[in-house]
Amino acid sequence: MTDRFAPPPARGCSATPVLKERGQHEVFCGLTGIIWLHRKMQDAFFLVVGSRTCAHLLQSAAGVMIFAEPRFATAILEETDLAGLADAQQELDRVVRELLERRPDIKQLFLVGSCPSEVIKLDLANAAERMSAEFAPHVRVLNYSGSGIETTFTQGEDACLAAMVPVLPRSEARELLLVGALPDVVEEQAVGLLEAMGIGPIRVLPAPNREAEYGLGPGTVYALTQPFLTDTHEALSRRGARHISAPFPFGEEGTTAWLWAIAQEFGVSPKTFHAVTEKPRARARKAVAQAAETLNGKSVFLFPDSQLEIPLARFLTRECGMTAIEVGAPFIHRAVMQADLDLLCEGPTIAEGQDVDKQLDRCRAASPDLTVCGLGLANPLEAEGLTTKWAIELVFTPVHFYEQAGDLAGLFSRPIRRRALLDHEGAV
Ligand code: SF4
Repeated sequence: MTDRFAPPPARGCSATPVLKERGQHEVFCGLTGIIWLHRKMQDAFFLVVGSRTCAHLLQSAAGVMIFAEPRFATAILEETDLAGLADAQQELDRVVRELLERRPDIKQLFLVGSCPSEVIKLDLANAAERMSAEFAPHVRVLNYSGSGIETTFTQGEDACLAAMVPVLPRSEARELLLVGALPDVVEEQAVGLLEAMGIGPIRVLPAPNREAEYGLGPGTVYALTQPFLTDTHEALSRRGARHISAPFPFGEEGTTAWLWAIAQEFGVSPKTFHAVTEKPRARARKAVAQAAETLNGKSVFLFPDSQLEIPLARFLTRECGMTAIEVGAPFIHRAVMQADLDLLCEGPTIAEGQDVDKQLDRCRAASPDLTVCGLGLANPLEAEGLTTKWAIELVFTPVHFYEQAGDLAGLFSRPIRRRALLDHEGAV
């Protein structure tokens, strides 16, 4: 199955001691996930219970919808709420009642916690329970936290999906569940490849709407499409579903290994697997090779941000010829990350958490050809002469599976090519 790839390294990074840091960290908050989640879940509404800052973050990141009814909003906590002078729960009930009266299309409402709601300890779990009882069966009300306290931006999606798992009905059916909010076109590609191997029925979490939901139970096997879905993974395991462990589907190798792990679970023969994957593999290989011309022999330093860092380091080192200096991840969940750590050749520092000043010092000292980091660090590092890639783009751009493998490599090669052009122009 992996005949075209370098063999797994004799010593991967599974046993590498992890540098654990607990200092100041530079990341976006989990509200960011609403931007892609509200597009995936057509009957959902995300009501952030937060401050004007939260409202501004959402509006500037998602843009203001002028012609469509938006499917997210912020219930702003005023000073009287924050000071405990008003009953925030009563106020929230009123806002939700008005919203649901005006918008009968809403079938699931998420109350999304924020830093301010957590600081004043506003009990949104209780609020969601109370509202579910009031508005059932037409509307299901759930809650999760999108706060930026001690979290990173991709945890918003994880918290949202994890909140949905306990309310799905029980089922004994043997089904494959693909977990993660992928762009529709990418999701269709994955489902298409698996169905072509005869695998099914295939469900996705999140489902596009409540009508398309399904049950969970010991017959459910699931594959994660995003490495940051660790709470969702735990919630699914608690429901008796079984995880199919695999490297994440980035690049030709990751996609092939991910598909093969599922194929083995469903008893697909190597012949069928080969027949289905041969052509898209060839396309992916060709597309990655183009970008790899720029990346080959270059070094990369990954700051902890998107939680995609370990699978990406595996892709960049094994398929694009790069050398990883440091691979930082906000959190490392061993069971979810094991297959990628096994494939990532020993050498880079593996860091968990962040102490941003110390990490910046290590990055400057290493002077990598490419630094993958959050928006807040990218501009200052560019000004210092380092070439950077915004990690958040990796979540907003379709990068999974074969047809996007070239685009994924291109995201990393473009800044290096741009820097070479600027250096060239500066020299003439
Ligand atoms: S949740 Fe916290 S970090 Fe996010 S916008 Fe609101 S206040 Fe800022």
